[in-house]
Amino acid sequence: MSNGLPQIIDPLSLCKRGGELVGEIPLDSMERLKATVVNVVGGASVELKFSISGRAEKLITGQIGAVVFAECQRCLQPVELKLNCNVNLQLVKDEAAAAELVSEREPLLFQIDSEYQLLEIVEDELLLSLPIVALHDKEVCQISANKLESSSEQTDSIDKSNPFSSLSSLKKTKE
Ligand SMILES: [Zn+2]
Repeated sequence: MSNGLPQIIDPLSLCKRGGELVGEIPLDSMERLKATVVNVVGGASVELKFSISGRAEKLITGQIGAVVFAECQRCLQPVELKLNCNVNLQLVKDEAAAAELVSEREPLLFQIDSEYQLLEIVEDELLLSLPIVALHDKEVCQISANKLESSSEQTDSIDKSNPFSSLSSLKKTKE
């Protein structure tokens, strides 16, 4: 781990002392994220605040940002995704406590003295923030630009069928 961030954190003690973590984690070290997207660039910017609310809730809030490339589901070319997660985690002791959280918070299960890989927490947040379907903007997507020139009325029906039909239509237009 680099840039002053600890590799292992104890979230409970950080909450008790109102800790803050600010720094960057190389995306290259996130194997699950790398397996999910086409490419990663640089690092994840991390800004996390640990606190205890007036109702004794242990909270982790802040921002995580990163740039990754995923496969555009329309043209199958890489599309840049700027991920920006609002972190809103609450430490909970068990699944029952997790089920009672207010909807905007996500549970982070913990036990006394349990330690966490900061990287895992950050990587989980980034994975959750990935769009279900990655797409270029219409103006820059290769398939979309191509179809606008030929027949715009079929745009939707081709998108929803299999991606190879889009590819074959692209091929034909080139010939
Ligand atoms: Zn595209």
